[in-house]
Amino acid sequence: MTNFINERAAAIDHAHRNGVIVVGSITADVTTFSSRLPQRGETILGDDVTLVLGGKGANQAVAAARAEARVQLVGCVGTDAFQTLVLDGLRDDSVGIDHLRLVTGATGVAHIRVDDTGENDIVIVPKANFLLSSEQVTTAVNELAPTSAVMLAQLEVPADVVFDALQLGRAAGLITVLDPAPAPVTALADEVWASVDIVTPNETEATSITGISVTDVDSAIDAGRWFLERGTSAALITLASAGAVLVTSEGSVTFAAFPVTAVDTTAAGDAFAGYLGAGLARGESLHTSVSAAMAAGALAVTRRGASPSLPYRAEVDQLSANALSASAASAKSEEPAPNQNEARA
Ligand code: ADP
Repeated sequence: MTNFINERAAAIDHAHRNGVIVVGSITADVTTFSSRLPQRGETILGDDVTLVLGGKGANQAVAAARAEARVQLVGCVGTDAFQTLVLDGLRDDSVGIDHLRLVTGATGVAHIRVDDTGENDIVIVPKANFLLSSEQVTTAVNELAPTSAVMLAQLEVPADVVFDALQLGRAAGLITVLDPAPAPVTALADEVWASVDIVTPNETEATSITGISVTDVDSAIDAGRWFLERGTSAALITLASAGAVLVTSEGSVTFAAFPVTAVDTTAAGDAFAGYLGAGLARGESLHTSVSAAMAAGALAVTRRGASPSLPYRAEVDQLSANALSASAASAKSEEPAPNQNEARA
């Protein structure tokens, strides 16, 4: 299936324009582990605590960098004790930080509590992230677009700044990808969608944005069409262990998930977005990029934590190769292939 995305990608000289610009949030993730979550008003003793780089913007930037893309993250960090933690985390993964702005005050924080069954609750305090400005984004896009191919954005920073970034990115010839997470509490302006090449909601986000209850492939296709009618070139609805559905003006394609044993589903969507962006930036087709993104999402759920669970390219290539040989073996024995994609008109 060729489509508008592949046409736009073909217009990019990937030898010179292969970078990924991520516009998004950065947090310090403070995670406590306890046998159970406390009741309201209760204090309990926990068993462990971790402190790592997080935030959807940072996670997607790290995922794209682990996919071996050249990445620049546009975001804001505070001047508090968490500043060093998040900057070191980004540097360790070779994420470019030329367009991070230091703002007086606190860095964003995600406070996560996890119990023995993996159940969790999360409070995110955006702090510095809400100070991301359109001026900052404009400077970054002007400087980076000539050597970049893809922009990744999410909704943990102000929606109007995200909108400006997508418009600017689109005008500069970038392939724009919006992960509309977390689901917006107020409806996004309808004109946002025309600046989005690929929207990548999960079931919950697709349901909340479109009003169509996404529970299976057919309802995901309906939701995908909702986005296309509003101007996106493609909608890629992720369905966790049920895979993903790609909807374009040519029709829809269902991708089966890679079979894995999930232990912690956090950051699957971020691994997915980072690998999707990295693949497209390298000049790979939309289908190849989606397949790698799905392998990355599958690997992320086999490990605990958010940024620590983001896989490296060699691991993603290995899982993809294993699935291919498993599917060749099962095709020989005339069994259904585990990762066969099903095209639908
Ligand atoms: P989010 O983390 O945004 O909710 P999803 O849970 O839909 O996103 O995961 C994104 C992608 O990661 C899925 O489309 C799928 O390819 C992969 N994935 C997620 N969970 C699993 C799982 N349990 N088994 C295999 N692949 C998974």
